[in-house]
Amino acid sequence: MATRNQRACLLCGIVQASSVFRNEGCPNCESVLRISTSEDGVRDCTSPSFEGLVAVGNPGESWVAKWLRIETFTPGLYAVKVNGKLPSDIVSDLYTQNIVYRPRDGSVAD
Ligand SMILES: [Zn+2]
Repeated sequence: MATRNQRACLLCGIVQASSVFRNEGCPNCESVLRISTSEDGVRDCTSPSFEGLVAVGNPGESWVAKWLRIETFTPGLYAVKVNGKLPSDIVSDLYTQNIVYRPRDGSVAD
């Protein structure tokens, strides 16, 4: 699979081409991360290092989506594990919006 130009969102795990993140942002997180409108958005909020791609067609009914906590997210390709973390200033910005960031790099145990 050609993943060289693919990146995964650090918040929701969706995988898209870096150009899509740059032009349109994340379909799930754009309202809080503003990836497409911030200069370092793609670099700060997405990671080129991820593992375990799953295609989620109907997030509301997919056990995979429930497992990944993405029931309310848009259908697409998601990474099970995303290496990297959101910068702390973005994490604290999320907290002020009542969004709890759970790193997807495996550092947080369930
Ligand atoms: Zn996202």
